[in-house]
Amino acid sequence: LANKKFHPEPSIVKVGNVSIGGGNLVIMSGPCAVESREQLFDTAHAIKKSGAQILRGGAYKPRTSPYAFQGLEEEGLKYMKEAREETGLAVVCEVTSLAAIESAVKYVDMLQIGARNMQNFYLLKEAGKTGLPVLLKRGLSATIDEWLNAAEYIIAEGNPNVVLCERGIRTFETATRNTLDISAVPVIKSKSHLPIIVDPSHATGVREYVNPLARCAVAAGADGLMIETHPNPAIALSDGPQSLTFPQFEELCQELRPFAELM
Ligand code: PEP
Ligand code: MN
Repeated sequence: LANKKFHPEPSIVKVGNVSIGGGNLVIMSGPCAVESREQLFDTAHAIKKSGAQILRGGAYKPRTSPYAFQGLEEEGLKYMKEAREETGLAVVCEVTSLAAIESAVKYVDMLQIGARNMQNFYLLKEAGKTGLPVLLKRGLSATIDEWLNAAEYIIAEGNPNVVLCERGIRTFETATRNTLDISAVPVIKSKSHLPIIVDPSHATGVREYVNPLARCAVAAGADGLMIETHPNPAIALSDGPQSLTFPQFEELCQELRPFAELM
């Protein structure tokens, strides 16, 4: 179902009133974790002003350490919905369990399945059943074939609204948090009709490398970008070192404007 052989035309996935795929560049941005109403609203207004169409924010955080901030859960989802009402931005949030899916469907336009859950087949099926568009991140060490099979699980539930997200993979290199596999963009385009976006924030883990790789993703043909932003990355509760400040995000959007119809 994800295979281009049986569906040669590129798919366009609607998220709220935003279309992903089909030649349009979509920018999703927001904090790694929703930390407070104020932090989320400041971010939503700033990214909208720069041209982003979708607000991202984590309410359920799959942290490496159990002692790290785990997210505001349903309270965070409520802020996401309020931010959508206030700004008109579509909103996407990661889900890590069936309970999270059951809550999220009441508040968000798109569900995100994170890298760590890419092969949580039970979760994929449950996300598929909701009918909401699903942003499927590539697993930390997943091959492209495994990733497309994960997408297949969602589509097999009767939900064709899948967007893939390349977010870097594990390699021997330690200079960046992960290694961005830019070749995933043309490879996916040759094998599948599904839209693919790139997340240079998690791919690099380093703020300074985000904008060059974002430009690179657009040049490779990505349908969109996911960029982490924070009002004050120095005090972010998660992923501060890779989060852009608002002026840095504005600079990126200015660079991309010739290639995109940003809002
Ligand atoms: C995220 O988007 O905040 C996230 C946790 O990403 P990933 O699943 O790619 O690590
Ligand atoms: Mn993050």
